[in-house]
Amino acid sequence: MRHQHQRLIVFACLLFASLASTARAQTAASAAWLDAYREPASQLIAASTASTFAWNRLAQLTDTIGHRLSGSPALDRAIKWAIAEMTRDGLENVHTEPVMIPRWVRGKESADILAPAPHAIAMLGLGDSVGTGSTAIQADVLVVQSMADLDARKDLAKGRIVVFNVPFTTYDETRPVRTDGPSLAAADGAVAALVRSIGPPGLRLPHTGSVSYRAGAPKIPAAAIATEDADRLQRMADRGDRITIRLQMDAHFEADVPSANVVAELRGRERPDEVVVLGGHLDSWDVGAGASDDGGGCIAAWDALRLMRTLGLRPRRTIRVVLWVNEENGTRGGIAYRDQHRAELAKHVMMLEADSGLFSPVSFGFNGNNKGMATATAIASLLAPIGADHVMIGGEEADIDPSIQAGHMPSMSYDGTGMYFQIHHTQADTVDKIAPADVSRAAAAMAVMTYVVADMPTRLGE
Ligand SMILES: [Zn+2]
Repeated sequence: MRHQHQRLIVFACLLFASLASTARAQTAASAAWLDAYREPASQLIAASTASTFAWNRLAQLTDTIGHRLSGSPALDRAIKWAIAEMTRDGLENVHTEPVMIPRWVRGKESADILAPAPHAIAMLGLGDSVGTGSTAIQADVLVVQSMADLDARKDLAKGRIVVFNVPFTTYDETRPVRTDGPSLAAADGAVAALVRSIGPPGLRLPHTGSVSYRAGAPKIPAAAIATEDADRLQRMADRGDRITIRLQMDAHFEADVPSANVVAELRGRERPDEVVVLGGHLDSWDVGAGASDDGGGCIAAWDALRLMRTLGLRPRRTIRVVLWVNEENGTRGGIAYRDQHRAELAKHVMMLEADSGLFSPVSFGFNGNNKGMATATAIASLLAPIGADHVMIGGEEADIDPSIQAGHMPSMSYDGTGMYFQIHHTQADTVDKIAPADVSRAAAAMAVMTYVVADMPTRLGE
């Protein structure tokens, strides 16, 4: 046994030595092509971090236009403003691409505990929810702690308002309670659903977000409630109190309205038909100011292109900024982009979306083959001075997803989650949460990543 063990150690050492020398050779080879990009990368980083231009632009968007729900006049104003400003920046091929989008209207809303003691709940109706009609819903409450818990007690749900008190873990893990929970409750005969906000405990802030009604299940009004109110209801239920709530929501859909994705480019100097896309979504929920979700991603991506233009850096291929619409409740912008660009998706080299915050620490997510991952990691090494040199498996975002699925190109995300989920879809999503340096870093990081990918002699991943 011992002997075998020693041989294993020797083998492991030899293997490690050979892997290390391969890695060194690869590093030397990669350094050669990467060297050409050290100077432009330094220029982009220096220009971006020396200025608060991008943050000021984000503040202007969120202060003078504010939140931008699909179908709202504010989103229209934001589109017109972006087109005018992009033109003023000297970007190329600045234009809108039409998209029909839904118009969901929140209207007046409230939720009150009537018994065992009167108490107004901090709530926000879920996006795309139906309303309660002209008369409020008044019913007794069933508090459940998971969707499985509801299933186990579904006989108690009929005629009740079901409260999903499911603690937040991660967004991906907890979000189904919001999107799918209300239809499960409806199938069990519930008359409305209240969902504990999908976010960590905060300062009594409800987090909205969309609900996805299941086809065939009755549609019941659904709202998010602050974690503190969910905990209060849980304590009452644990005491065996009979809880009665009155819920009133004017929410409704109006007819679809015309809107548009916003597009601007820096045309490639050698292969203009090959495209690297970066962007974010211009729409937001109708609370807060849509600063982190996703004004910041839009402005940073846009500023990446402006910086290249300002520094006279024109890559081999075209870089295209897209500000999509309707990410929050329909993804119609992302779907329209795929449909309108289907013929050129094969010429899309990579798509990058920033929609996960700009807070520290930051990383890129990458989705593609190993060679592409290695190249993206090498490019990111140029971003070590601003702490943006981490690349992890990921790279999935809602607006680029339809095109990635159809075109099978590598995709990336810019991820600075930080306090993102504390303020996500709340009244607190305002520009003061974001440091000017965070926006500058994001612009520089996306500029360097997309510039090198658009300029390299070979296509990313080949
Ligand atoms: Zn978003």
